[in-house]
Amino acid sequence: MNRADGREAERRAETHDLDVAIVGGGIAGLVTAHRLNSRPRAGRPRSVCLFEASDRLGGQVQTEQRGDWLLESGPDAMVTAKGSAIDLCRALGLGDELVPPLGAATFSVVRNRRLHPLPAGFRTIAPTEPWPLLQSRLFSWPGKLRMLCEPWVSASAASTSDGAAEDETVEGFVVRRFGREVYDRVAEPVLGGLFVADATALSARRVLGPFVELELRNGSVLRGLRSVPATPVGAGRGSGNDAPAQLTLKRGLGSLIRRLADEIPASWVQLGCAAKRIERSREGGRWRIETASGTWRSREVVLACPAPHCAPLLHAAAPEVARALEAIRFASCVTVNLVYRRRDLTHLPNAFGFFVPRSESYRILAAAFASEKFPARASKGHVVVRTFLGGALDPGAVDLDDATLSGNSHDDLAQLIGAVHPPLSTHVHRFRNAMPQFDVGHLSRVADLRSAIAGQQGLHVVGSGMGGYGLPDCVTSGEAAAEAISRSQRRTAAPSPLASPSVSMS
Ligand SMILES: Cc1cc2nc3c(=O)[nH]c(=O)nc-3n(C[C@H](O)[C@H](O)[C@H](O)COP(=O)(O)OP(=O)(O)OC[C@H]3O[C@@H](n4cnc5c(N)ncnc54)[C@H](O)[C@@H]3O)c2cc1C
Repeated sequence: MNRADGREAERRAETHDLDVAIVGGGIAGLVTAHRLNSRPRAGRPRSVCLFEASDRLGGQVQTEQRGDWLLESGPDAMVTAKGSAIDLCRALGLGDELVPPLGAATFSVVRNRRLHPLPAGFRTIAPTEPWPLLQSRLFSWPGKLRMLCEPWVSASAASTSDGAAEDETVEGFVVRRFGREVYDRVAEPVLGGLFVADATALSARRVLGPFVELELRNGSVLRGLRSVPATPVGAGRGSGNDAPAQLTLKRGLGSLIRRLADEIPASWVQLGCAAKRIERSREGGRWRIETASGTWRSREVVLACPAPHCAPLLHAAAPEVARALEAIRFASCVTVNLVYRRRDLTHLPNAFGFFVPRSESYRILAAAFASEKFPARASKGHVVVRTFLGGALDPGAVDLDDATLSGNSHDDLAQLIGAVHPPLSTHVHRFRNAMPQFDVGHLSRVADLRSAIAGQQGLHVVGSGMGGYGLPDCVTSGEAAAEAISRSQRRTAAPSPLASPSVSMS
């Protein structure tokens, strides 16, 4: 063994002791760390380390301020129906920065190469106002009639022994309740676009849960919606519910990440430090985490990265958890922010964006008019348009170069919203294996994952690791993991030899 090898072996033999190791510095990992740090002393771990593979915190939350342009490449809003992310903003003193959208949420869908607004009162898949539906040019007359007949369509007899509906595809559910046109012209582009998914595989229970419940309880979705007018299901224009369905932060969602990062002790965070392998320590009851900065031994491990990133870490130590993580499919996607002069968009609709059915010959899945949706995204003369590409049905898009992705986006926008000149600026972001796919049976796969994890003391999986999607769910799961760790910390509150990250020889 030469001297360099010897030093390496010595370094590898060093094991740093921790109470909690967090793998991943996206919103879920940061919330876990923040919550642990805010616990009363008895439940607060003394030594915590958050390992983040990249050189920045925030994961999919990516806000960039370029002069007057505020560009969100990942999430841009928090739904109000699930309050945890918004409550967290308030708790962190960001309440005054919460802003609603600029007006009522309206979207269009492409049909025969033209944009058609969704009729007012259309809640995701359900038309709640007959008059706007009858006026809409998105649907045929037989299609409209079929939708309005939904209350007389017999309900599915399929339900499990606990009374919950058995899962079926979104396609099956929507066609059964509202007819083929609602699936082809609305559900497929909107839900396929939102979840960058193959809509034919989507789970009705996961994606349209409240509608499935309405059928189960009332025998009809529309009858159910009439009996609960303020239901949060797909609140939007004409829904009779004036509260905004979404909020964002004035200076972008990156300000939530900055605030969380400021609240966490700097000594807890290691950037550019990927976890490579997790094993059971030879000393019972501990985990051994190999990272780019050395080997760590920890009582509790929180995996806070998308399932395809977590699974390989656990192959040796917890193969059944790794298998359950692998059972949840993920897809990659790309967003491109394009900044145009307002006068160069000759057919910019009065909407927040549009969705594109896969049957139309465009590459983009959807586009959001970011500067029309939220305030302070661009100066008056400019429009920020964000396109979405890739997903389960176009897996190759994520490997295309920036120029092709921007070019495809601009070409599609030229045809659909009259972009007559190239954009002033384009910004491409790739999200590899970041989007959980809610295929039929998703909820049972998550339940299997939960029980596999329950058998592993001190192991926690949060956020997109659990196949979750959306900031509120990531916040909730990070908080729950921190609570569980604090409880076990209090149980083992006997004096610990583990002070702040110390180095000992294993
Ligand atoms: C384009 C897009 C738009 C979206 N829009 C919205 C929206 O408007 N509203 C909403 O609520 N949600 C939205 N989402 C979903 C939301 O962004 C995610 O659910 C959430 O950000 C996931 O957070 P996370 O912490 O679980 O994972 P991530 O944000 O993916 O963070 C995981 C972190 O783990 C790190 N990591 C991976 N492997 C390792 C390793 N081995 N060691 C150490 N670190 C590792 C990664 O570098 C990353 O920083 C959107 C997502 C995308 C992609």
